Amino acid sequence: MKPAFDLLVIGAGFSGAVLAERFARVLGKSSLVIDRRNHVAGNAFDEYDGAGVLVHRYGPHYFRTNSERVRAYLSQFTAWRAAEYQILAFSDGRLWNFPINLNTFEQFLGRPSSTEEMEVTLAKWRVPLARPPRNSEEVIVAQVGRELYEKFFKNYTRKQWRRDPSELDPGVCGRIPIRTNRDNRYLTERFQALPADGYTPLIQRILDHPKIEVRLGITLRDVIGKVSFKHLVYSGPVDEFFQHRFGPLPYRSLRFEPETLPVPFFQPAVQVNYPNDFEFTRIVETKHITGQVLPVTTIIREYPEDYGPGREPYYPIPAPEAKAAYARYARLAAAYPNVSFVGRLATYRYYNMDQVIAMALAEFDRLTGSHGGHGEDHHTAPRRNTATTA
Ligand code: FAD
Ligand code: UDP
Repeated sequence: MKPAFDLLVIGAGFSGAVLAERFARVLGKSSLVIDRRNHVAGNAFDEYDGAGVLVHRYGPHYFRTNSERVRAYLSQFTAWRAAEYQILAFSDGRLWNFPINLNTFEQFLGRPSSTEEMEVTLAKWRVPLARPPRNSEEVIVAQVGRELYEKFFKNYTRKQWRRDPSELDPGVCGRIPIRTNRDNRYLTERFQALPADGYTPLIQRILDHPKIEVRLGITLRDVIGKVSFKHLVYSGPVDEFFQHRFGPLPYRSLRFEPETLPVPFFQPAVQVNYPNDFEFTRIVETKHITGQVLPVTTIIREYPEDYGPGREPYYPIPAPEAKAAYARYARLAAAYPNVSFVGRLATYRYYNMDQVIAMALAEFDRLTGSHGGHGEDHHTAPRRNTATTA
C-alpha cells in the first residue's frame, strides 16, 4: 500500500510550507512536503557559516510587508528583530546614499541643499511623460532625468538582467523609491523586520506539525506514483512541471561568492550596490542587520548569470514577451483543478516573501471556501493564474 496524504507539496519554501501548515492546523489534513534541496526555506534559507556568521545563502532577504494578515500569520511562529534596511551605492569611486534622496542630491551637488531645491531641480531634469511609464527606463527618467538614471540604474539593470531597462516592465526599477527627504531606507513598506532567529527556524516552526512530513533531497519525480494524495501543491518552475511543452521560460540566475574576513565589519552598510564597476551587482554583509557581535564577518558578492543546466532560476523575467510565454502555461495550469500552482516560480512573478505568503493564504481560502483575509490581501495576492508578472 502506498503511503497516503491529503496533500503532496512540492517545495519547502514559504509558499509550500504555509499551505501545508494551514491544511494541518485548520483542517487536520496531512501533507508530505518535499524539496530537492537538502534544506527547508527555499530561497529564504539562512544558516550559520563556518565562522559562525548568520548568512542569507541565496541573496539578502529583507522582510517587509503592508499586509496585517501576513504579519499576524508569521508572528505565530516568530518574534521580530526591528530592522531598517539602509544600503549604499558605489559609483565614480565613492559611496552614495541610495535610493536617491536629498542626501544623494547633496552628494551630487557637493554642497548642502533642501527638499525645495531638489524638487525644483528634478522638475528641470525629469523627462515628463503624458502617459504612464511603459518600461523601467521611462519610470526612472520620468522621475529624475537621464544623468541620475545612468549613474544608478542603467548599468546595474543591464548587469542584473542582461537586458536594457527599456526592455523590462516599469515595476522592476520602479520598485526602488525616489525621495526628496532624508529617508535612507531602501524599502517603503510599513512593517520592516527580520524573524528574530532567522528564516530557516521560522519555516521549520511553520512545518512543525504531526500532520506534516518533510522529506529533503528528493524531487517530484522520486515520489510520483509512490505516494497517494488528493491535491498537489506545486511551487517549482511552471514550465518544468509541464516538461517545457511550450518551450522553456526565461529566468535569471546568480552566483554567490562568500568570503570571511578577520575584521568585525567590511563595509558601512548591510548592502552596497555596484551599478557601474565590477562584475558583481552587490556585496551583502548580513551582520549589520542580524546584530551579531563577532570579531569576524562574512560578505557575499552577487554575480548575475544566465540561467542554464545546473543553475537555479532565481528570477522570472518581468518583461512583456516573457509574460506572454508564461500566459500559455497559466492557461494550461488553470485546467488542473487538483493542482495549486503557488509562489514565485509556479506563477512566474517577481514576488517578495510577503506576497508569496499572501498568495498561499489566498489559495487556502480559495480551496476551502473560507474568507480568512477579509479581502485585505486580494490586491497584493491575485488569484492564481489570473495576474501578470510583477
Ligand atoms: P522558493 O523559495 O523558490 O521555494 C521553492 C522550492 O521548491 C525550492 O526550495 C526548490 O528547491 C523546490 N523545488 C522546485 N522544484 C522542485 C521539484 N521538482 N521537486 C522538489 N522540489 C522542488 N523577498 C523579500 O521579501 N525580500 C527580499 O529582500 C528578497 N530578496 C531576494 C533576493 C534574491 C537574490 C532572491 C532570488 C529572492 C529574493 N526574495 C526576497 C524573494 C523570495 O526569495 C521569494 O519571494 C520567496 O522565497 C519565494 O518562495 P517560494 O516558496 O515561492 O519559492
Ligand atoms: N536597481 C538598479 N540599481 C540599484 C538597485 C536596483 O538599477 O542600485 C534596479 C535593478 O534593475 C534591480 C531592480 O532595480 O533588479 C530591483 O532592485 P532590488 O534591489 O529590489 O532587487 P532584488 O533584491 O529583487 O534583486
